[in-house]
Amino acid sequence: MCQDHTPPRPQLPGEEGQRAEFPWQLGAVDAHCHPTDTMASIVSVPTMRARVLTIMATRSQDQDLVAQVAARHSFSDRAALATPPTEGSAVTDKIVPAWGWHPWFSHQLYDDTSDGHSTYDGSLASTSEEEKANQQARHYTAVLSGNPDAAFIASLPEPKSLSSFLAETRRRLEEFPLALIGEIGFDKGFRLPVPWTEEEWANRNQGETPGARGNRALTKHHVEQDHQVMILKAQLRLAGQLGRAVSVHGVQGHGILFDALSSLWKGYEKEVLSRRQQRRIAPGAEDFSDFSSEESDREDIENRDVNSNKTENSQPYKPMPFPPRICLHSFSADDGWVKQYMRPQIPARIYFSFSTEVNLTGPTDAKTQALGEKFAQVIKACPDDRILLESDLHVAGEEIDYYLEHIYRKVCLIKGWTLEQGVRQTRKNYEEFIFG
Ligand SMILES: [Zn+2]
Repeated sequence: MCQDHTPPRPQLPGEEGQRAEFPWQLGAVDAHCHPTDTMASIVSVPTMRARVLTIMATRSQDQDLVAQVAARHSFSDRAALATPPTEGSAVTDKIVPAWGWHPWFSHQLYDDTSDGHSTYDGSLASTSEEEKANQQARHYTAVLSGNPDAAFIASLPEPKSLSSFLAETRRRLEEFPLALIGEIGFDKGFRLPVPWTEEEWANRNQGETPGARGNRALTKHHVEQDHQVMILKAQLRLAGQLGRAVSVHGVQGHGILFDALSSLWKGYEKEVLSRRQQRRIAPGAEDFSDFSSEESDREDIENRDVNSNKTENSQPYKPMPFPPRICLHSFSADDGWVKQYMRPQIPARIYFSFSTEVNLTGPTDAKTQALGEKFAQVIKACPDDRILLESDLHVAGEEIDYYLEHIYRKVCLIKGWTLEQGVRQTRKNYEEFIFG
């Protein structure tokens, strides 16, 4: 999730008039976006050129909206990914829904899932207005940094129980067999916005789903790291129980995010055989010594599939404490982190997703150029079969199509793919990400 504003459109790579036609007919997909932030735009979904939109819920106000859109436009047929619409015709099965609670709003949930003392007691809060205010102050003082004052606390919503949110999400996921958990994650840089003034509230964009930041300034308060991580891990565990993929936001604190993820798969790492061990097991087996060790390690693991989470071949999914497939959306860490996440011991399948909006748009030309250089390095480090592409935009229609086309073209240039190769490859990656 990014800040909601309408950015100026970046120019598509290449000379106007010289650009190859974009092969929408091969099924370009958006792995992460937020069109329910602008509900009036949903009407354009069936005629969009993108084949599938993966739409995220983030907070109390958009959970039901994602369900409404999914009920109308849910995508379910694997084969249909490769059979996109002829231009101009309407296609209704276009949405893969995701439900989750974003780290920017994680302070609004209180932990009632562990044995320890909860920061909020809903039973006391229901006794009187005064007690409710006390409970609210206790919770927000505990989970926000910088001692928020009474007026700020009073502007925040009544906290919601984590256990009831998880139960609600489980029900939604059971109703939609392809649904993901997202958007969830960790954000070290974000701070809470100041409360709306009456005037700002009256003049805000009425078409925008409430709860987002809008144009408000930021306070000094952030959500305590431990609290963010607790909310994140609870949702990752639910995905692991149900065998669903997740879409994860990570801004700064990449080490904290990695630690949170790896704490869940500790004890489940895949066994990595050295080449010598492999030869001992299978004397005369093909010698992999021409491969780099990293490549051959990955190959060994994929062939062995020690802790397979695949649901195909009619094997029932075995619940795990971590999600089987993880998309690091608008991935902003450097190429060293790509290598870290591709370590062959990691039992989850990690994908890296990129957007023009977050990865390639800077406030100045110099910033944009620096972003572009780092971006090229990261893209080159990503294995072809782990790249996903996305818009991360807040409004359905032409805008998402344009931004998608932009990021596809950029990544194809860096990877040396034709547009056809790029669309086919990322479609295949997406298919594996969603269907397992
Ligand atoms: Zn997002």
